Amino acid sequence: MGPGRRRAAFRLRGGGSPQLLGLLPGKVSVFQLFFAALLLGFASLLWLQLSCSGEGAAPGRGVPRRPCPPEPQAPPADDPSWGPHRLALLVPFRERFEELLAFVPYMHRFLSKKRIRHHILVLNQVDHFRFNRASLINVGFLESGNDTDYIAMHDVDLLPLNEQLDYSYPEAGPFHVASPELHPLYHYKTYVGGILLLTKQHYEMCNGMSNRFWGWGREDDEFYRRIKGAGLQVRRPSGITTGYETFQHLHDPAWRKRDQKRIAAQKQEQFKVDREGGLNNVRYRIESRTALSVAGAPCTVLNILLDCDTNETPWCTFG
Ligand code: UDP
Ligand code: MN
Repeated sequence: MGPGRRRAAFRLRGGGSPQLLGLLPGKVSVFQLFFAALLLGFASLLWLQLSCSGEGAAPGRGVPRRPCPPEPQAPPADDPSWGPHRLALLVPFRERFEELLAFVPYMHRFLSKKRIRHHILVLNQVDHFRFNRASLINVGFLESGNDTDYIAMHDVDLLPLNEQLDYSYPEAGPFHVASPELHPLYHYKTYVGGILLLTKQHYEMCNGMSNRFWGWGREDDEFYRRIKGAGLQVRRPSGITTGYETFQHLHDPAWRKRDQKRIAAQKQEQFKVDREGGLNNVRYRIESRTALSVAGAPCTVLNILLDCDTNETPWCTFG
């Protein structure tokens, strides 16, 4: 307590001065004030002792700190307030280890807070063909089991920062969470990449995604046309005010290079709609299935060997 405060206390006693917020009795002796100060000091010490250090908090000076108790949690997942649906979070993946370490705990926490039942499936492509995001999502869908009834195709490097974003069962049609009005990079109207939710029924109506897209890009644009072809409407978030700050994109393109090579027929083929292929003709083998916990957050890693018909899509090899 500083000297200024003490002078004020003496003045108080000096007579006639207004009572301090009407809380103190009219006659306060120096002794009483001293006692009150002592009590206050003791209380603040006690508070310091009992207080905790949150994540990223400055280290306490000399006062031993203990970690905060966990913040109030949503009710346990068997509570009916979580609703009847369960999401299969399908994450196409290859060599993005640092991103995965951040993604799994973040998404588990984010979805749990929103009471979204979920199972994170990391679709790790382990064959030696070029990356095929769409085929991995098809495999994830086929391997996701009966305990999930809707999917999110979800980039590993896109973290939703706004808790208002809806991840609930998309009854009314495909729900594009990473809308072009919110995605930090892609702003064209027909964009459906990044994060897209679909009921399993709607994904089947599209026959999944085409398996003809090896290397970076275009598979999502082709999927937009499949959605339309199935008579479905893409819906997008409304009332989100965080604009291009809505997601964190953990992607340094110098470090995570996009495989944009277009060889021979791929130049023309990439713009075509695949009317035959999809869920019905994806060729793969599950090499292994591993239950994993990343910083306490559960997920399943599927090691997937895709197969490529090199007559059909000769651009699937690195050449
Ligand atoms: N991806 C991956 N490894 C790769 C290429 C892509 O894991 O070598 C996955 C990952 O989930 C990534 C998504 O595919 O977030 C989309 O690829 P990328 O980030 O390169 O495309 P962008 O949307 O940034 O253009
Ligand atoms: Mn990216």
